[in-house]
Amino acid sequence: MSSASACLTCGACCASYRVSFYWGEATGAPGGYVPSELTQAIHPHLLCMQGTNQKQPRCVALEGEVGVQVGCTIYANRPSPCREFVAGDEGDNPFCDKARAQHGLPPLIPVKIVA
Ligand code: SF4
Ligand code: SF4
Repeated sequence: MSSASACLTCGACCASYRVSFYWGEATGAPGGYVPSELTQAIHPHLLCMQGTNQKQPRCVALEGEVGVQVGCTIYANRPSPCREFVAGDEGDNPFCDKARAQHGLPPLIPVKIVA
């Protein structure tokens, strides 16, 4: 989830994809900040947020109802993929609208009509 205002009533990306990142980002490593207790090991050097490595993902840190009102309970300490994932109306990220569509939400990027 990015910091865009649309995200506050969305949260679809936090409930659509596996959120994986280098183990050194978690508190189990020196200088890590993502709470290790909310992560799951998927490779010797790779973790993911709990709840995102399943058929119907939903990050354990996501609170609220997708498409209504949501929040990230570890926002200040969220992992790098969450920081880099921009909302579709703030940058080029087709995976934003793809996640929104999976949850029945309209796209943020206006469709260009070519005459
Ligand atoms: S899917 Fe897009 S709009 Fe929704 S929370 Fe993620 S970045 Fe924000
Ligand atoms: S850590 Fe926060 S921003 Fe990242 S997927 Fe989980 S709820 Fe979303």
